[in-house]
Amino acid sequence: MKPEEFQLAILQWFDRSGRKDFPWQKAIDHYRVWVSEIMLQQTQVATVIPYFERFMQSFPSILHLARADIDQVLQHWAGLGYYARGRNLYKAAQLIVERHAGQFPRDLEAVCALPGIGRSTASAILSIVDGQALPILDGNVKRVLARFAGISGWPGDKKIETKLWQLAEELMPAKRAGDYTQAMMDLGATTCTRTKPLCSLCPINDSCHAFKTNSIGEFPGKKPAKAYPQKSAYCLVLSYQGEILLERRPNKGIWGGLWVPPFFETLAELETWLKQFGLPFTKKMTATRSHKFSHYELLFSPVLLELTENTDQLNGAWYDKDSLNQLGLPAPIKILLRDYYEQNDSLQEVR
Ligand code: SF4
Repeated sequence: MKPEEFQLAILQWFDRSGRKDFPWQKAIDHYRVWVSEIMLQQTQVATVIPYFERFMQSFPSILHLARADIDQVLQHWAGLGYYARGRNLYKAAQLIVERHAGQFPRDLEAVCALPGIGRSTASAILSIVDGQALPILDGNVKRVLARFAGISGWPGDKKIETKLWQLAEELMPAKRAGDYTQAMMDLGATTCTRTKPLCSLCPINDSCHAFKTNSIGEFPGKKPAKAYPQKSAYCLVLSYQGEILLERRPNKGIWGGLWVPPFFETLAELETWLKQFGLPFTKKMTATRSHKFSHYELLFSPVLLELTENTDQLNGAWYDKDSLNQLGLPAPIKILLRDYYEQNDSLQEVR
């Protein structure tokens, strides 16, 4: 599909099915479109409409907004969420008064220099209000273009984003720029939806890569899962006459306030710790265990040491099998100690 065929299909679809009755589409000006674009980031249209109308009643122009009190502005934002948007809008209104004599700038660079306005939002305002042929690339348009052209990879990735911008530029028409911008936003919001897109009603379906190859679910690519790090540790299971030495974890951090055997990052640390109490170093270890925290996996190797004499110098407290049940123990430690008692024949005999 050539760019002009793409543009024609999109604009004809907009004339038939585009959304044209939103309050910011009446009495169009930079200020109204700007406020609507900011409110529509992260928020559904139906939620935005009453907020937009109240905002316009209280702050009908850039000058009114710039002279208002920030608390009053934020009060009008209450319930919309993402308050930085409201704060940036207010700051930008003041900058427009300072730098541009209260007139919304017409130059892409100057608009992008205002707080809270990125390239796509700036282009949307300038194309809708002034008809400037500037493409947009919001989340909806990214999805449409990625599916249409079969651009795989996560759009948050710089390389993929650059490809999408290039395509958006190639497809941007010189005429009816505002309608085209609105059409692309509408197509993403109403037809090429995230789940269950209405491909049979889509004006570009006969050239859409994802539709033709039945691979819609693959586009746009998902954000790569964050690396899930592993940490290793050694856990000293020190026993004396059937009792185990436990320490209470500090309230902050993992297993906060719970009871665990002494943990060490390395065997050398464990050895040093034993030495200071005159205890022999042992390498009697059982299989490494794993516990998954939300942000990392802990791989810990239990090191077993059975004392023949008690030592009072050790920090911590000794607990036998029965009293362990009354303690707050992390689940993997509970399992470790249950296994320990089950497998340790010598201790079984002592008990
Ligand atoms: S055909 Fe379907 S997947 Fe392709 S752009 Fe249209 S709605 Fe999106």
